[in-house]
Amino acid sequence: MTALSRRNFVKGAACAVAAVAGASLGFRSGGIDFYYPQEAFADENSPIERRYSYCDMCNHVPKCGIVASVREDKVIRVESRDKYPSTPLCAKGIASLQELYDPHRLLTPKIRTNAKGGPAEWKDITWDEAYSILAERLNRVKAQHGADSVLFFCGDPKEPRGAMQRLATLFGSSSYGTESSVCAAASWMCAQLVFGQNSMGENPSDASASCLIWSLNPAWSQPNRYGVLMKQKERGCKFVVVDPRVTPTVTGMADIHLQLRPGSDGALAAGFINQLIEQDLIDHNFVDNWTHGFEELKAYVAAYTPQKVEEITWVPADRLIAAAKLIGENKPGTLITSSKGGCHTTNVGHFQRAVFMIPALLGNLDVTGGLPLGPGLPFDYAASTKGFQLEDVYEAEGFQQRRYDREDFPVWARYYKMMQTVKLPEYVDEGKIRAGVLLGVNSMMWPNTPLYQKAIADLEFSVAIDYYLRPVTHDLVDMVLPAAMCYERSAALAIFGRKIFLREPVVTPRGEAREDWRIILEIGCALGYAEQCFNGDVDAALEELLRTTNLGITLADLRANPQGYDVPGPAAAQRKYETGGLRNDKQPGFNTPSGKVELVSTVLEDMNFVGLPVYEEPLHSPFTADAKDYPLVLNTGSRVPYYTHSKLRDLPWLNQFMPNPVVRISSKDASERGLVEGELARVYNAQGEVEMQVEITNMVLPGVVDIFHGWERADINLLTTRDFDPISGFPPFSNGLCQVASLQAR
Ligand code: SF4
Repeated sequence: MTALSRRNFVKGAACAVAAVAGASLGFRSGGIDFYYPQEAFADENSPIERRYSYCDMCNHVPKCGIVASVREDKVIRVESRDKYPSTPLCAKGIASLQELYDPHRLLTPKIRTNAKGGPAEWKDITWDEAYSILAERLNRVKAQHGADSVLFFCGDPKEPRGAMQRLATLFGSSSYGTESSVCAAASWMCAQLVFGQNSMGENPSDASASCLIWSLNPAWSQPNRYGVLMKQKERGCKFVVVDPRVTPTVTGMADIHLQLRPGSDGALAAGFINQLIEQDLIDHNFVDNWTHGFEELKAYVAAYTPQKVEEITWVPADRLIAAAKLIGENKPGTLITSSKGGCHTTNVGHFQRAVFMIPALLGNLDVTGGLPLGPGLPFDYAASTKGFQLEDVYEAEGFQQRRYDREDFPVWARYYKMMQTVKLPEYVDEGKIRAGVLLGVNSMMWPNTPLYQKAIADLEFSVAIDYYLRPVTHDLVDMVLPAAMCYERSAALAIFGRKIFLREPVVTPRGEAREDWRIILEIGCALGYAEQCFNGDVDAALEELLRTTNLGITLADLRANPQGYDVPGPAAAQRKYETGGLRNDKQPGFNTPSGKVELVSTVLEDMNFVGLPVYEEPLHSPFTADAKDYPLVLNTGSRVPYYTHSKLRDLPWLNQFMPNPVVRISSKDASERGLVEGELARVYNAQGEVEMQVEITNMVLPGVVDIFHGWERADINLLTTRDFDPISGFPPFSNGLCQVASLQAR
C-alpha cells in the first residue's frame, strides 16, 4: 500500500494517484479507510489534456476556476485557473478530486427491497426500470390526490433548480421547494421589504471607505471572497465585523469587532441605528426625500441606548458607539450580510430589515463604493429564468393560490415561487404532501431532525438523487439515483459579475451516474412531458434557457468563447432612484409600494405584521425560564473551512482536520463544568442530546457554545427547535439553549 503524504496535498499539487498504473492505492486518514477505485487509474505514459471547469464544493454553484489535467478520461490533477475569477483553490477545492474518485460514491440506481423502519436494503436496477417505476408511482399519487401532493425539492447543488422548477410546473405541482428556505433567502426577502430588491450586500470596491460585515466569516465560508476583502483592507477600507465568535475574519479584518450574544442581533441593529441618529451621522437629504417612516423608527430605536443594548447583547456600549461612528464617518460604505446570523434567528424578519436600513440612512444606497442597486442579470445563479421556469403557466394556472405554505408564511409566499418547507412534517401529516422527488436533500437540514425523517419516511413514494448513499435520509426513501459530480456534469451557466461561462464535463461520469439536469429532464420524459423536457437532451435544454435570457447568444457562442461572455447591461449609474432606474414602472423611487426605502414596511402592515423592525427576545434565551436548566446559548449553522454543511466528511484529506464533532466552549464554562480539552461530553436540552468532543476556546464568549452541524453521528439539529420566524419561516439555528456536561458526570 502506498501512502499519499499530506504534504503533497497541502502544497496544492492535488492528486497524482490516477497516473499510477495498476496498483491498488489506499490509505487511512482521519479515521477513514480510502482506496482509490480501479477507474481512477490511468496509464502514466498516456497523453495529458488540460480542460477547464469550476469548483462548487462550498456554495453549490460554480465559483473558483479549475484546470483539470485529464489522462485517459481520468482527472489526475486539479489546479487553480488563474483569474476565473477566484484563486487559489482552497482545501475543499483541491479535495474535489478525492470526491470524484471516492470509493463510497453511489454509482447505480437502486430500489429498496425491505419495508421502511430500519436500515434500507437496496437492489440495483437500470435507469429505465427506475424511470418506469417512479413515473407509475408519481402519476398514481397525482391521480389520487392531485399534482400538488408531489413535492419537487432541489437542495444541493443549486444548479438544477431551473430544471426542477420547470418539471414541477409541467407536472402541475405548486409544491416546489429548495434549501434556500432555511439558508439565505430570508435575508434577500428583508432587502425586498426595505428597498425593493434582493440583496446580501456587496463587497467593498476601491471607492469604499468602510464596510459593515454582519455575521459572515468568509475566511471559512467563502475563501474565494476573503482575498477580495483583504485587498480592500490593505487599501485602507475600514471594517466593522458583527459576529458572536472571534473568527479569522475578525482577527484579520475587523477594526472593531462587535461580539454579540447569538440571537440578539435585532437589539444591536436598533442600537446601531440609534447611534447613527444620536451622533448625527445620517444623510438628512436622503432620509427626508427617500425614506418612509423615519420618525417612527427614530422614536422606536430611542430606547436602544448603548447601555441598554449592552445589557441585551453583551456588546460593550463604548464599542457600539465607536462602531457606528467608524461606519458613519467613513463614507461611502457598504454592507455584507449572510445567511448565518442574518437568517437563523426567530427575529430575522425584523432584524435583518434593520441591518439593511443602515446603508440607507447613511445615504450609501446605489452610490459608487456603497451598496449598488439596479437591474441584475436576466437569469439567476441557479440558471433560472422566468421563461424557462414557465412562470407564465405558474401564474395563469393559479399555482400561487394553491400553495400549502401560503397561510403559514404569507410574506415568504408573496416574494418567492418556492415553498417554505419548514412545515413539511405538518403537510405530510395532513395528507397534503404524499410523494417527493428529492435532489440533494438531507433530513438534518431542518430543526428537530426526527420530525422531518418521519415526514420523508411517511411519503407514499420518494426518490432521492445524490452522490452518496446517506443513511440519515436515504434509509427513509424508496429509490436512489446516482448523480454526477462537478467534473462530470454540465453546469448551466457559471456566473461571475456580468460574465457568464459554460461549464462542461471534463470526464465521463463514473459508473452509471448521470448529470442532474439530465436526470430531471429524463424524469420529465417518463412522466409524459418528453417534448417540454427536450427528450432528455441537456444541450437542448440549455439552448432554451439561453433563448429565454433574450441575450441573443447560443450554446455554440458560449462553447466558442472559453474566456466567457460579457452580458451587456446598463452603465453603473449612481442614484438610479432619482431617475426611474430602479422601479418596474420606470418612475423615480424604489421598487416598494411607497416608492421609498421602507423603514416601516407597508407590506408587513398590510399583512398584519408590525411594520417597524422590532426586536423580540428569542423564545429560548438567557432571559427565559428554561435558561435555569440549559444556561448556554447554542449557536450552530456556521461553516468550517473543511466541510460544507453535512458534505465532505468522507474525504480523508479534509476529515483529518476535523475528524470528530466538536463543542466549542469558553475556558470559564469548561472549568465550571469540570470539562477538559478533548474529552467526550454530553450536549443536551429538553429536546435531545448528542455527544461531542470538548474544544476549549476563546472563540466564543462565556455563556455561548458553538457547534458545527451536519454530523450524522451527532446531529445538533436534534436540539434545535421549531420556533419559526413568522415573517420568513426561518428556524432559530443561532439562538437555542443547551447544557454541556462531562460523560463522567452521568
Ligand atoms: S472557495 Fe474552495 S470550495 Fe469554494 S469554490 Fe473555491 S475552491 Fe471550491
